[in-house]
Amino acid sequence: MTASHDPICTDPATALLGWYDRNARVLPWRAPPGTATRPDPYRVWLSEVMLQQTTVAAVGPYFARFTQAWPTVAALAAAADEDVMAAWAGLGYYARARNLLACARAVAQRGGQFPDSEAGLRELPGLGAYTAAAVAAIAFGRRAVVVDANVERVVARLFAIDAPLPGGRAAIRAAADSITPEVRAGDFAQAMMDLGATICTTRKPRCLLCPLAQDCAAQRLAAAEAFPVKAPKAARPERQGRAFWIERDGAVWLVKRADKGMLGGMRALPDDGWSARGDGSGQAPLEADWRAAGQVAHGFTHFTLALSVAASAIPAGNPPGIGEWWPLDRLAEAGLPTLFVKAARLVLATGESGENDS
Ligand code: SF4
Repeated sequence: MTASHDPICTDPATALLGWYDRNARVLPWRAPPGTATRPDPYRVWLSEVMLQQTTVAAVGPYFARFTQAWPTVAALAAAADEDVMAAWAGLGYYARARNLLACARAVAQRGGQFPDSEAGLRELPGLGAYTAAAVAAIAFGRRAVVVDANVERVVARLFAIDAPLPGGRAAIRAAADSITPEVRAGDFAQAMMDLGATICTTRKPRCLLCPLAQDCAAQRLAAAEAFPVKAPKAARPERQGRAFWIERDGAVWLVKRADKGMLGGMRALPDDGWSARGDGSGQAPLEADWRAAGQVAHGFTHFTLALSVAASAIPAGNPPGIGEWWPLDRLAEAGLPTLFVKAARLVLATGESGENDS
């Protein structure tokens, strides 16, 4: 059964915007609240893509690096794929970096101008419904219903929507629509995000400081933390894999992963094809004196990976296939995804590269 309660106040937007005027977070992609100045659509779009699945604190340094290297969408569109993928390394969800480039190139072909409506933005490659709504509202002041994880939590509580997620998202979106104002839509969207991030937090929401406390159904029920209701999660399956650290003359052999598929287009250690097989039975790329460096665990969206790392040093020649020798003292610049950063740290910490023993 789905229940929801109307907020008491008829205009939560007014209360929220007043709070936002006094408490808005200062962020490098934002315009101050209530000003006529609109933020740069490129910076808004970039920040929204980066912020999916991660926090403002984590995004900050990446946003600074990207906008320094590529200050406009045209500059980003002209960048080499591997440079962008390397700069993205560590943010995770690498398909987003590929979509980011596809979108930047489409915008560059339009003369560097983003479409100024939600529908127009939706037509860009790799730009999803959430990002289109957020950019339309924040960069162009269009009324759009912007629901990220923070907003979802606030709205589920405000209306005490008890339909479990993910099925309850339609009810939450309809409720968010009902309180989204025609004017200051961008400020409203950002105010909801800020409220969710700083006041209506997942644990221990600070209802005493909340501008919506008078209106909030969950607060009236003294049950804020019970919302949003989530369906029980199925346990993630575990895959097994092997990665191979091959060292020669102070350098490690790195390959580029196939463009399509997991961690596509990223530099990586050679591995046994775990992303397709996942039972740990794949072969090493060459015959060598392999030493076990240990195992790293890594969580992906749909499974966890236990990656065994084997290391060897070879005296001469190259492993089969296409790759490059990357100097160990510049490994931080290789843009390895987090999984392989963990594997590299393991080898370097355990001294199991074998380089000194060969
Ligand atoms: S009153 Fe509490 S539960 Fe309700 S929106 Fe505010 S912080 Fe969230």
